[in-house]
Amino acid sequence: MDPYKLGELKNKSLWRERPSNTWSFYCPLCKSPRKIPYQPKPGGLRQVSQVLLTTAFLTLLAWPWLTWKGVVIGLPLWIGFEAFYRTRVRASVSCPYCGFDPFLYMVDVKRARTEVETHWRKIFTEKGIPYPEKHPVAGSKAESETGGESPSGVSADAKISDETGVVP
Ligand SMILES: [Zn+2]
Repeated sequence: MDPYKLGELKNKSLWRERPSNTWSFYCPLCKSPRKIPYQPKPGGLRQVSQVLLTTAFLTLLAWPWLTWKGVVIGLPLWIGFEAFYRTRVRASVSCPYCGFDPFLYMVDVKRARTEVETHWRKIFTEKGIPYPEKHPVAGSKAESETGGESPSGVSADAKISDETGVVP
């Protein structure tokens, strides 16, 4: 008997994360579909209620000394939570396939480009393939006409900073 025909059971698991908790997007560089279990910004009902509950609990705990003024603990609590949350989003949003980091790109394009190159260099070294020294994606053709024989990270980094005159 085929279990998948019993009552037309779905082939896929019904256990999924709630859609409101995941953030789906495509990597801007390599177009891979990405899905991370965080929203870009905190502030969902669940998070707010968690912080409120913790605040209430701590307020009650400190009631003998602070009475109702203990609720101010909620402010640093939220700040701490938000910092923690943003750090986790920041860490998980970076693409595992191509090494592209959107947050870093917003801050420093050159460094984001170097990060991607470092990522690919690592993969090429792991596979034992010499890294091609031309940069068709980065678009720095003019500086890298050296023949592609020296896969050295230092020289490529120097090239990138020379190209723009800005050293990160
Ligand atoms: Zn990517």
